[in-house]
Amino acid sequence: MAELCDLTAHELAGRLRSGEASAADVVDSAMRRVAAVDEGLHAFLVVTEDLARRQAGRVDELRARGETLPSTAGIPLALKDVLCTRGIRTTAGSKILEPYVPPYDCTPWERLDRGGAVLVGKTNCDEFAMGSSNENSAYGPVRNPWDQERVPGGSSGGSAAAVAAGEAVWALGTDTGGSVRQPASLCGVVGLKPTYGRISRFGLIAFASSLDHVGTLTRDVRDAATLLSAIAGNDPLDATSLPGLAADYAEGLDAGVAGLRIGVVEDWLSMEGVQPGVRDSFHAAVDMLTGMGASVDRAELPHADYALSAYYLIAPAECSSNLARFDGVRYGFRVPGASDVVEMNMRSRGGGFGDEVKRRIMLGTYSLSAGYYDAYYGQAQKVRTLVIRDYEKAFERFDLLVSPTSPTTAFKLGEKTENPLAMYLSDVFTIPSDLSGTPAISIPCGPADDGLPVGFQFMGRLEDERTVLRAAFALEQQLGFTARPPLVSAAAG
Ligand code: GLN
Repeated sequence: MAELCDLTAHELAGRLRSGEASAADVVDSAMRRVAAVDEGLHAFLVVTEDLARRQAGRVDELRARGETLPSTAGIPLALKDVLCTRGIRTTAGSKILEPYVPPYDCTPWERLDRGGAVLVGKTNCDEFAMGSSNENSAYGPVRNPWDQERVPGGSSGGSAAAVAAGEAVWALGTDTGGSVRQPASLCGVVGLKPTYGRISRFGLIAFASSLDHVGTLTRDVRDAATLLSAIAGNDPLDATSLPGLAADYAEGLDAGVAGLRIGVVEDWLSMEGVQPGVRDSFHAAVDMLTGMGASVDRAELPHADYALSAYYLIAPAECSSNLARFDGVRYGFRVPGASDVVEMNMRSRGGGFGDEVKRRIMLGTYSLSAGYYDAYYGQAQKVRTLVIRDYEKAFERFDLLVSPTSPTTAFKLGEKTENPLAMYLSDVFTIPSDLSGTPAISIPCGPADDGLPVGFQFMGRLEDERTVLRAAFALEQQLGFTARPPLVSAAAG
């Protein structure tokens, strides 16, 4: 491949340090790719070309002065548009935030900016991160770089598509029910959702606060470890942030899987709607793990069957509260012409939010209302506790659990928009680890019978990102899945 933007971050960091390439060259390459493909993909809502060039200039100066570059310096990054960036419009994919320019940076970006990262732009996403296909963005859908008739997954679809297509080398997204891992799976990249609280959420526009996680989208597992290391660590500005300084998650990556006890959640594979090609690729990868010396056995998560239902009560309940602040008074968006304040609120919320967001606010408000709280929200919280206990029990026997990331490969645009329940099922294998807050990663395996990438998911114990990353790294090496979307070779020439 001819273009710098198609290298991984660790390959690029090597070239930048040795002087084989300059940060300015790397930005040129990423911007050429954006110009070549983004009209078709629509992965970006804003491209920050001037800023990227200034940041690259700073990195090149540092290097010229002989300073050692941090591993994130000069690497083109994309941020999902739910992460606030000072002076750069941040919309959460919603019309209600169309005029919003945050006065502050979210902590993950603030840390990366200090480490010399280069921002390509803000990526398209489902409105307020609600969706599994990116079709809920108020600014139009993102298309999958593997096949533009198909969705990239959601809600971090813009970030996943940008990384797959070479418009950015890595990206941040958010995962509340699967929105980092599922689009990673559908776009053939690596998606890591660390432990709840591992990455600060200061400056993240909230969807469901007890479930929201910031996560990484990268081209390989080593880059996931590096990016996590750069942004993890306690943040006094986020009360839910885990204690402790950032660690080097790339350490011990190559320790292999020999001796690890891996549990396969077999029940999930026989569920209706699991594509046979996904099942086959998954099984082939499990056989590899056995061949590599892991001890593999069947695992049970008996209450995971109810996780999806519990999620669709808890997440809407929390979002109905979080989204109350968008009232036509704050954040700049207002529908004019109302005669009093209540009408103004109603018109602004009615005109500013899309259908899926309204559906969730209504569901959440209903399930929190006095007469229904115990029957719905209270029950869902109990189910959540049972799911957490299932994981605790499974992790007494196993070091890791594995499953496909998503039941299917990328589906066609429009295929599930009329049927919210079918859409919600896209996250049936990812939601349980959000409810339990445990770390999980999706790495590409396959391709499936339809030629599209399949995601393989490792789920680990609370705070044990290291074992998750180490096993994912080992399987990635063995699989050797290096295929890129056809559009990449066409654009690289
Ligand atoms: N698809 C799920 C939903 O629509 C998950 C979203 C997410 O993780 N942000 O809620």
